[in-house]
Parts: sequence; structure tokens; C-alpha cells
Amino acid sequence: MRRNRNVKIVATLGPASSDYDTIRALFEAGADVFRLNMSHGTQEDQAARHAAIRQIEKDMGRPIAILADLQGPKLRVGNFEGGSAELEAGAAFRFDLDPALGNAARVCLPHPEIFAALTEGASLLVNDGKIRVRVRDCGKDFANCTVTHGGTISNHKGVNVPDVVLPLAALSEKDRADLEFACELGVDWLALSFVQRAEDVFEARELTKGRAAIMCKIEKPAAVTAFGEILAATDGIMVARGDLGVELPIHSVPPIQKRLVRACRAAAKPVIVATQMLESMIESPMPTRAEVSDVATAIYEGADAVMLSAESAAGQFPVEAVATMDNVAKSVESDPVYREVIDASRKAKRETVADAIVAAAREIAETTDIKAICCFTHSGTTASLVARERPHVPIIALTPIVTTLRRLCLTWGVHCVLTGTVDRFKMAVVNAAQAAREHGFATKTEQIVVTAGVPFNVPGTTNIVRVAPCDERLIFRTDPE
Ligand code: PGA
Ligand code: MN
Repeated sequence: MRRNRNVKIVATLGPASSDYDTIRALFEAGADVFRLNMSHGTQEDQAARHAAIRQIEKDMGRPIAILADLQGPKLRVGNFEGGSAELEAGAAFRFDLDPALGNAARVCLPHPEIFAALTEGASLLVNDGKIRVRVRDCGKDFANCTVTHGGTISNHKGVNVPDVVLPLAALSEKDRADLEFACELGVDWLALSFVQRAEDVFEARELTKGRAAIMCKIEKPAAVTAFGEILAATDGIMVARGDLGVELPIHSVPPIQKRLVRACRAAAKPVIVATQMLESMIESPMPTRAEVSDVATAIYEGADAVMLSAESAAGQFPVEAVATMDNVAKSVESDPVYREVIDASRKAKRETVADAIVAAAREIAETTDIKAICCFTHSGTTASLVARERPHVPIIALTPIVTTLRRLCLTWGVHCVLTGTVDRFKMAVVNAAQAAREHGFATKTEQIVVTAGVPFNVPGTTNIVRVAPCDERLIFRTDPE
């Protein structure tokens, strides 16, 4: 099963998408990566979703990436009687440390460090800034506030305090427990929330010990400032526009998104554009024009992936939301202007042998009638470098390593195929030709480009590019060992 588009789709799972059939329908509609949001639900819920995904992977015969998203030092309110409460502008509302269920007068905010740092006149923003309150008076375990923007406040909604610098560690106790749980479960990507500095990545890496690739969510002003060092330290980036648009003026988000997407492509690291892409589809089977345009913009910019949050996790139309993204992607990617923009923003500077090999592979493929670029990849680096070239022809990444296979599900244009261990170049070419045929990219009479590294199974050795027929009898006849 191959996707007829390059950009990848990340779908968050939640109450609306937890059973095998729904997750499978999301996959069939186009979801390439599933996100487990550790801020919601129990570890048992996540384990059940993880098991369902791995079963679908088996049944469909295609790799699927699982991204576990750690809550991070995100401040969240507790639970409410009946799940929610209505806050009216002008009314009084109190935050405290009492774990009892909240109501229209108060709720638990289980973060003593906020109360320690809050000052009179500071703003607290709840639920992506939709609800705003101002602190009237506060003490070490409470804050009495006045509601300035009312609305419905519900269980576990996020709280931002943009006026106050909060002394928070990168990983909370809960994050450390969730990280260990997710790594043991066998997730492929681990997302860190509210990253502020490169050291936050180093800290997480010490704990993951290579079991999962690390994705940094850029959602704090500090992370935008330190983006260069964070990008160098991480394996991938999420432009987390939800909190970013609360912590910074909302109109500063689009230029930041453009800058981050471009920098990630230059670094050959996958980037996800996230949050509110099809927000109205939580309740409507049709998105707004503006939402469709937002998804399209991220694709025109060259993002590796676009993401659904509540649309697929808690909405009424999760499958329709994925299908909408899939349709927008196909429409944008068939536009000649998309090609012009993507080609014009290709990184000109090439430094390594691998850079030159992948550039040559693209050049050859686009000059002649080549059906796919097949790259053998160990860590996934070569496949990422091919993806950075954003070639006009499909990319098939072949690897014997299942973790690499799954992690690459997030990378632009990469169709991942598991291959046996190969130790001779001739066998690599034969395997590539077979994969191209079996996965519907080429027929026996057509040609592919193959890149590989000799000696085999040593990371970072990509040094061969070969134009090959897709018929192994010809390969056996013509190729040296
Ligand atoms: P969240 O992160 O959904 O975990 O808050 C994404 C965002 O802030 O955009
Ligand atoms: Mn966030």
C-alpha cells in the first residue's frame, strides 16, 4: 500500500479513536503516524492504543510510527464536577491546591510553584488562551482572580502564565514515569513539551538511551530564541502553534512557522506543523476555507508532516479529518507552483559524500525516466538526506532495522520497506528492484536509482549511486558482486 503524496499525516488518538476499527480506518484514510498524548488518559489507555496500532501494522503489512507526547511542565487545572463549568466575564474565580472537584467558583491548580511566582495583576490564560483571568490577590496556595474573558472551562485544560517566569524543570516526575513507560512500550518518537533549551534534550536523551527518537515541541519564546542549539540537539521538531500562539503574540506564529520549517529542512530533520489545522472538524464534517488554506500553506512551505489533535482524538469526524488532509496534500502537491517553490528552496550548500550522492541521485532520476530513488539506510540519515532534496520521484528507504523503518514514517516522501540484511551490492540492487515492483512503483521494464554504502552495515558510508533495471535477471547478468 503506497500513499500518493509526500507530506505525512500525524493523527492524535483519544476517546474518539481508541478501538482497532477506528484506528485502522484512520490509517486507511491516510494517517502515517499516531500520536499518544500523555497529558490525557491513563498508561493503560495508551498501552491499549499502542497494541492496536502494532496489530494494524501487522495486518496491513506497513510500518507505522508512534509518537508519545510527554505533557512536560505544562500547567493544567484539575477536574470539574460534571467535567466542566461556565465562567462569566466579571465573575470571581479561585485557583487553589485543594484536589476536590472544581465548579464555577474554583478549581484545583496542582502547581505550588505557580502560586509562589504569581503576582497581583498577572494574567492566567486557560484553554489555549480562550479563557483569561486576572489575579486580584494571591498567597502560597491560592489565587483569587477576576474573569476577563469567559467561556467553558473543563477537565485538565492547560494554563499559561505569560507574564511570569516560572522556574520549571524540563521533565516533571510524571514525564519521567511516562518516558520510561513509553520507551518500554516501544514507541518510535518521544515529544518533549515546553522545551526551553538544548540541555532539556540532553536530559531526555540520557533517559531514553536510544530507545526512541526525540522531537522538540517549540511552544515557548525561550525555545524560539534558542532554536539553533535545540535543532542541533534534537531528531525532529514540532511547531506547537497552540501554546506558541498563547505565549507569544498570535500574529508572530506564521513567520516563526516558516522559519522553523525551512531550518528543519536544511538540517534534514523532520518537522511537524501542529494544532488547530482543521479545528472546526471537531464538530463539523466540513472544514472552513481558512483551515484548508492553513494545511495547504504548511505543505507549500515544505513541512514533513501536518498534524491533527482534538480533530482525531476527540472530534466527531476523525476519519473525515484525515481524509481532508490527504485530499489537500494531493491537490497542493500536484500544483506546478508547489514544485517551483520546493525546488527554489533547496539547500545549495553540500558538504559530505552523502550530500553529493543524494543530489546526484535526484539529478539522475529527474533527468531520465526513473521510477524511484531507492536508498539503503541504517540510521535513517541517508533517507533524510534524500528527502531533503525533495525529489520529483518517489523515495523508497530500505533498512533491516525496524526502529529506523518506523521513525522514517514521519519523513517527507519516504516510503519505508523492511529488507533483509544485505552484505553485497548486487543483493542490495536486487532487493531494491523487488521492493519497487512489489510496492507498485515500477515494473520489470522500468528503471530505478539505488544508493548504498560499501562496506555494508556501517552507518554513514553512503558512497554508491547506480541506475538499475527492475528485472533481477538483468541485474544478475550485468552487475559485479
Ligand atoms: P499540546 O501541544 O497539544 O500538547 O498542547 C501542541 C501545541 O501546543 O500546539
Ligand atoms: Mn502545547
